[in-house]
Amino acid sequence: MAGTVTVVVGTQWGDEGKGKLVDLLSKEADLCMRFQGGGNAGHTVVNNYGEFKLHLVPCGIFNANCICVMGTGTVIDPQDLLAEMEAIASKGVSVEQLVISDRAHVVMPYHKLLDKVEDEARGAYRVETTGRGIGPAYTDKVGRIGIRFHDLLHEDILRAKLSAVIKKHNAILTHVYGQQPFDAEELIEAALAWGQQLKPRIVDTMPIVRAALQENKNVLLEGQLSAMKDIDWGSYPFVTSSSPTAAGASAGSGIPPRYINRVIGVAKAYSTQVGTGPMPTELHDEMGAHLRTLGGEFGATTGRPRRIGWFDAVVTRYVTEINGCTDLNITKLDVLDTLAEIPVCTGYRYKGELIEHLPDPVIHEKCEPVYEVLPGWQQSTEQAKTLADLPRNARNYLDRLAELVNVRIHSVGVGPNRDQTLMA
Ligand code: GDP
Repeated sequence: MAGTVTVVVGTQWGDEGKGKLVDLLSKEADLCMRFQGGGNAGHTVVNNYGEFKLHLVPCGIFNANCICVMGTGTVIDPQDLLAEMEAIASKGVSVEQLVISDRAHVVMPYHKLLDKVEDEARGAYRVETTGRGIGPAYTDKVGRIGIRFHDLLHEDILRAKLSAVIKKHNAILTHVYGQQPFDAEELIEAALAWGQQLKPRIVDTMPIVRAALQENKNVLLEGQLSAMKDIDWGSYPFVTSSSPTAAGASAGSGIPPRYINRVIGVAKAYSTQVGTGPMPTELHDEMGAHLRTLGGEFGATTGRPRRIGWFDAVVTRYVTEINGCTDLNITKLDVLDTLAEIPVCTGYRYKGELIEHLPDPVIHEKCEPVYEVLPGWQQSTEQAKTLADLPRNARNYLDRLAELVNVRIHSVGVGPNRDQTLMA
C-alpha cells in the first residue's frame, strides 16, 4: 500500500476495536497520528509486547520505524502522557519516535475538576464523561483562552495566559461550584516542568506531514470514538467536544482532504455504548448481560460496564456515510459464536412509521428497532485464518451487514490478538 493516507474511524459509539486495527496497519505505516480527542480514548492493543490500553499515545508506537504524532486537534494532559510513555517504555517499547504538535492544547488540572462538576450540574442531560478534562479543554480552546504546548516552553507567555485564565476558572469553581481555587504559581511551575520534560518532542508537525505526503509515505490517522459522538453529527448533547470523523482527521492533522484515499470504518458485530444517549437496540435483559460477559464489555478508560445492543445498521450506515467510508472492519465476530439467532436492526418504527435514516436524537430516543433475525453458526470462529474458514452462517451474517451498510468488508476480527484478523 505505497503512499496511502488511511483514516480509521469508529462507526458506532466508540470502543469498536480501532486500536487493534491501527496496531495491525501500522506495521506498514511511516506515520501514525491521533488527530482529535485526548486521554478519554482507551484503545486496546494485544501484540507480542503484551496488552496495552493506550489513552493518548498513537497505536503505531509498536512499530519502531513509525513516527507517532499527537496532532494539532488533540488535547493532552502532559502528566498523563508522561506516565503513559513510561508505562509503555517499561514493557520494552521504544517511545523515541513520539512527537507532540506545538499547537495541541494542554489539559490542565482545572479542566479535570471542571469536567466533573459541570457534568454533575447538567442534571438530566448529564453526558457521563470520563472526567479527563477533555470537554473543558476544548471549551477553552474555542473560547481562545487555551494553553498550547508551545506556551509551555515560554515562561512569559505561559505566565500571562495562565494568570488571566485561572482568575476566571477560580471564580467559577469557587462561586458556582463551591470548590477550592487553584494556585496560579503552582500551576505555572508544574506547567513549565512538563514543558522541560517534553521539550524535545514539542514540534511544528507541518514539515513532518508535508515530507510524508511528498515522499509518498503511508500515513495512518487514528480516530477515537465515532461520529455518533461527534460534536456536530452525534447524539447531541451526549457527544464529545471534537470531530472524530474523516473530516475531523483532515482538520486535526493538517492533511488536506484530497490526500485521504482510504477511510476504514470499524464496527463491532453488535453494539455497545458508554455514557448517556439514544440506543434503540439496547438490551436490558439477560441476553445483554450475557453478551457483556462474552465480549468483556467494560470501559478501557473508566472500567464502567458498557451498554449492549444488537447491531444497528441505521447507525452504522449513517456513520459510514458521514465519513465516506471506503472499507469496513468488523470486529468481535467471535463473541456471537454461541448464539442460535442474531437480530440485526434494519430500521426503526416511530409513531407507527418506518424510518430507515438516523433521526434527531430526541426522536432517536423514542424509536423502536425493527429487526431481521439471522441464524447463528454455533461454532467457534477463533481459530479461523481466512474468511473462507468461517462457517457459512457467519459469512452470511457478515455479508448482510456489509450489504445493509453498503460498504465492502476490509477485514474481520475473531479475537483480540493482532493475528486474529481475517483479511478480505
Ligand atoms: P477501541 O477504543 O475502538 O480501540 O476499542 P476498545 O479497546 O475500547 O475495545 C475493544 C475491545 O475488544 C478490546 O478489549 C480489544 O482487545 C477487543 N477486541 C478487538 N477486536 C476483537 C475481536 O475481533 N474479538 C474479540 N474477542 N475481542 C476484540
